[in-house]
Amino acid sequence: MLCSNITRNADGALLFAGQSVSALADRYGTPLYLMDEARIRQNCRMYKDAFRLAFGDKALPLYASKACSFKQMYRIMAEEGMGVDCVSCGEIHTAMEAGFPAERIWFHGDGKTDADIRYALDHGIGGFVVDGLEELEALNREAGERGIRQKILLRVTPGIDPHTYEAVNTGRVDVKFGAPIGTGQALEFVRAALNAPNVELEGLHCHVGSMVFDESVFEDTADLMLAFMRELRDKLGYVTGTLDLGGGYGVRYVDSDKQADIPARIAALANHIRKRADEQGLPMPFILMEPGRSIVADAGMTVYTVSAVKRIPGFKNHVIVDGGMVDNPRYCLYRAKYTVLHAVDRGGETAVFDLAGRCCESGDILQPAVSLPADVKRGDRVAVCTTGAYNYSMASNYNRLGRPPVVMLRDGESYTAVRREGFDELTALDV
Ligand SMILES: *Cc1c(COP(=O)(O)O)cnc(C)c1O
Repeated sequence: MLCSNITRNADGALLFAGQSVSALADRYGTPLYLMDEARIRQNCRMYKDAFRLAFGDKALPLYASKACSFKQMYRIMAEEGMGVDCVSCGEIHTAMEAGFPAERIWFHGDGKTDADIRYALDHGIGGFVVDGLEELEALNREAGERGIRQKILLRVTPGIDPHTYEAVNTGRVDVKFGAPIGTGQALEFVRAALNAPNVELEGLHCHVGSMVFDESVFEDTADLMLAFMRELRDKLGYVTGTLDLGGGYGVRYVDSDKQADIPARIAALANHIRKRADEQGLPMPFILMEPGRSIVADAGMTVYTVSAVKRIPGFKNHVIVDGGMVDNPRYCLYRAKYTVLHAVDRGGETAVFDLAGRCCESGDILQPAVSLPADVKRGDRVAVCTTGAYNYSMASNYNRLGRPPVVMLRDGESYTAVRREGFDELTALDV
């Protein structure tokens, strides 16, 4: 199977974290997000252990909570000793309500408003990842008014294209995040931060992309960052204390995807950074990384009930389910691949279907051309695997459909972490 938490029993019944998917669907209804708590914790520990081995105590993994954000998730992250990234006050609020320690929250985003900045300062969050000069100015002003010296990182763009996996001309400035190194703007950004009295520049941040499998992307990024750190020391006398290399390790959505050996990648990366820092005569920086997807993706599964099966002879077959782009927009957004499984597989004949959602959009497809039992019918359950990241957090209420609940699986038991959104919640804000 795709991941060790997905199995079938002798009768062909699909199990997730050892529990019957059909029984969970009966109990909680569908559509239903399931999350394997042990897997989330195991993924956190994989990062924590790999970091300890590779960097000693001079590193911390931050969970990029935009991947999946609700209170119980922050409680788990707190217990596992992770830091977290938040990209909005809504995420910060959720983390604080869950009792997540403010000093381990880093505030990201390229569009922070004055109100966002005030909120984060007033809640004592650990650090800001400042995206640009306007934000730096606003933060310096607001921090000054509060008599605070706020810890910050500056986001810079090293000019790496992780999608084609080749270092590109550092003059390339077509991303909306951070300040590009190649144009000299990043240097000016650092100079401005050093001259801002109410911020304390801890270091630099970069994030080159997501679903990174190529082994050299992080090494190449680190090279560009270390070269820039040397330039900062030589030109501004500034020694970078912290280097945040962002998130992005890829996960397996389908059997043909590679399995990234993340602990091995981190060990290799640490050796690489140590060697290059040495060559540049720089002290080894404190390392932050920001995994999102690789913490939660394979801890998730979405269960649906089939509403209709349409067979169009000579064309294609559709299986229509009771959810869709509202609870998982990723195929619609970027043709994301998924593995789809029937809740009961007795090894009979199969056929190919498009798995379609219930929204009034012909593009509402969860996954095209999936193999399911040929006799699939209304009332059957199907599961989409690896939906722990960027599914619940990207869900919408299009067509006034309520968001599914998130049910956590732990030690053979289950509990609700997020309740199903009902009619009352859907009209709660209507006047
Ligand atoms: C989205 C994001 C991450 C997490 O990326 P994953 O691919 O989910 O690991 C980390 N850092 C920043 C700045 C991001 O925008």
